[in-house]
Amino acid sequence: MKFDENEKLIMVHFGELWLRGRNRNTYIKKLASNMSRMLYGEDMKMERLYDRFIIRLGKDADLESIKKKLGYVFGISNFEIAYATSPDMESIVKLATRMFKEMDRKITKISAHRTFKELPFNSVDIVNRLYGIASKIGVELSSKGFEREFKVNVTKDTAFCSFEKISAAGGLPVGTSGKGIVLLSGGIDSPVAAWYAMKRGVEPIYVHVYGYANAEEAMKSKIPKIVKLLGRYSPSPKVYYLPSHFFQMGALKARKYELILLKAFMLMLAEKVASFEEAGMIFTGESLGQVASQTPSNLAAAEDGIKIPILRPLVGFDKQEIIKVAKAIGTYEVSILQYKDVCSINSRNPKTHTSIAKIKELKKDTKIKSIVTRTVKSGAITGGK
Ligand code: ATP
Ligand code: MG
Repeated sequence: MKFDENEKLIMVHFGELWLRGRNRNTYIKKLASNMSRMLYGEDMKMERLYDRFIIRLGKDADLESIKKKLGYVFGISNFEIAYATSPDMESIVKLATRMFKEMDRKITKISAHRTFKELPFNSVDIVNRLYGIASKIGVELSSKGFEREFKVNVTKDTAFCSFEKISAAGGLPVGTSGKGIVLLSGGIDSPVAAWYAMKRGVEPIYVHVYGYANAEEAMKSKIPKIVKLLGRYSPSPKVYYLPSHFFQMGALKARKYELILLKAFMLMLAEKVASFEEAGMIFTGESLGQVASQTPSNLAAAEDGIKIPILRPLVGFDKQEIIKVAKAIGTYEVSILQYKDVCSINSRNPKTHTSIAKIKELKKDTKIKSIVTRTVKSGAITGGK
């Protein structure tokens, strides 16, 4: 790879992937394709170089936009804005001198690292040389309590100098943990659960059960807005809009158990969708004890009979903690908008304890399996690749 000294670059580092032994290459490939997808339309070129990606910016590149998008890609631990030059002392000194002169005033630490060791100088030599130059130029230096790190990284063919490091989302590349069904409501919690699922490499497929008269109305609601926001982390996700009316008609008998039967029903829908989407898990935004339907016995009753794992990333979260994440990932503002939720039209006084036997009996009485089949059949799908 040949670089021009004046060419600004982004050096992208992927942290946790290194822990994954045999699968490493698959993970890196997935990360590369997720990054290209995310940066689609930006004026840049991406190349892999050892344990990093180098993003070369075109002349019309929008650096701020690219930085923002990189922040959404799971699997990236951090990235640096850098310049590159030849891996010899004089070239490094020349580049660093120019960069020191351009830098704003901040207490700076200088560090160096060699990926390629067969060089006539070592990292201490680089640091010593650069300290001398930087202090002459007037850069305030300290190796403790610094505000910025000026880093030199020398590989076989290139030396990189950077002074801006940006933390990214971490986690694993979306798709490396397979597909998962996310039961998505209009509320605050499930979008946050979806984010945590994606963070651990799950490609989400959303299932939303709507209380509107038809799918067109549901598609005009805030749900697609939430999906769009979540799509920043995994572009153009697939969404199943499934009606609640077959259930509403069939579940009258359930009365005080209606809410818990509705949960059981949603999980059955999710399992059905999972079977033809080849998804291996179901995610919900449930926590423990947050509302009447989320007592241990209710959770157990609702999931009875479901054969794939149901994961609840928020199980140990307080509501305030969930809200904090929702704000950070940008879904909160849409989540608090008015919404005609299916849950709210159900019994105001739900049971806090349900036995598995009771839910089994209710499922039989209401012929829930055929309601599931009819509901899935009349669903509407959006998105997908
Ligand atoms: P949320 O804020 O996610 O709506 P909640 O605090 O309102 O959660 P519940 O109403 O008990 O709690 O919902 C628990 C979970 O059930 C949700 O996080 C979501 O995963 C799923 N769920 C609830 N309503 C729907 C719906 N209409 N469609 C699909 N899934 C739903
Ligand atoms: Mg809700």
